[in-house]
Amino acid sequence: MEGRRQILQDLHEALARKGLRSTRQREVVYRVVSMAGDHPTAEEIFTRCREAMPTISIATVYNCLETLVHCGLIRQVNFERESTRYEPALVPHAHFFCDETGLVTDVELPKTVLEALKRLVPEPFFVSEVELNFRGTRSKQPPGVAAK
Ligand SMILES: [Zn+2]
Repeated sequence: MEGRRQILQDLHEALARKGLRSTRQREVVYRVVSMAGDHPTAEEIFTRCREAMPTISIATVYNCLETLVHCGLIRQVNFERESTRYEPALVPHAHFFCDETGLVTDVELPKTVLEALKRLVPEPFFVSEVELNFRGTRSKQPPGVAAK
C-alpha cells in the first residue's frame, strides 16, 4: 500500500508545518479526498468517511476539511448556487460544471494560458491564485429551454 503511505506522509508533513498533529479523523478525511476523482461535496465525503470510521460526525468532517484546506493539502471548488466541493491540491486547472448532470470535470490549463490570465490583472496587484470555472451542458441547447 505505497500510495496510502505516501498520502499519510504528505499529511503528517503538511500538518507539522502548521504546528498541527495528525489525527485519525484527519487521516480518514484526507484519504477520502485524495482518492476521490469526482470533486465530492462535504456530505459525500462524510458518507465515504463513515465506511472507514462509522463514528465520525459531519461537524468533524467539516473541521477536518477546513484544516486540510488551511494546510494547502486540498482545495475547495466553488460553483455559484452549488455546495462547496473538494479535491486534492494538484497542479492548477480549471473546472467545467455540467448543468445537466451536476458533474464537475477537470479542464487542463496550459501554463501559457495561466500566465496570460495572470497578466490581465493590472499593477500593483499580484495574483496568487487563479480560479477559473466553466459552466454549461453537453449539448449547445441549455436544458429546459423548450419547456419554458
Ligand atoms: Zn479539479
